[in-house]
Amino acid sequence: MDHNRERLAAHILPLSVANDFDTARTEWALIGVEVSEEFDSCPCGQDIKEHCYIRNQINGNTTYVGNVCINRFIGIETGNLFAGLRRIAADDTANANEDLIYQAFKLGYIFDQEYKFLMDTRRKRKLSPKQIAWKQKINRRIINKTVVQRRSST
Ligand SMILES: [Zn+2]
Repeated sequence: MDHNRERLAAHILPLSVANDFDTARTEWALIGVEVSEEFDSCPCGQDIKEHCYIRNQINGNTTYVGNVCINRFIGIETGNLFAGLRRIAADDTANANEDLIYQAFKLGYIFDQEYKFLMDTRRKRKLSPKQIAWKQKINRRIINKTVVQRRSST
């Protein structure tokens, strides 16, 4: 089963102000991302482990969709964000990729200096012990905000 635009629209439209999906989707902004170990389902019906939390900028409603639907149907580009997240979750000294650094900054997970440091060193293989420690500290904060081991179903 593929990501279904009609099913996604049926979920998004009642939470939106506009009555047509092409207008309604522009009302939404990304407010958080999360990787989980267990499968959940996207409103389109597809199993997902990558959640993109979104908020309607007009009426304040919130919901989530998977990483495919946010790009394909809502029209918000997340690029290689989730690949970057999985890489630093597996190794907290690893370099975050550009998409992850950009979104982490936009979502308020990292500060100005941290953004600059991660961008400047994102392709460096050799870092000083001090730089590695700083990178670990930043990566751990990003992981804490975005990676969940188990979701409670309440
Ligand atoms: Zn979906």
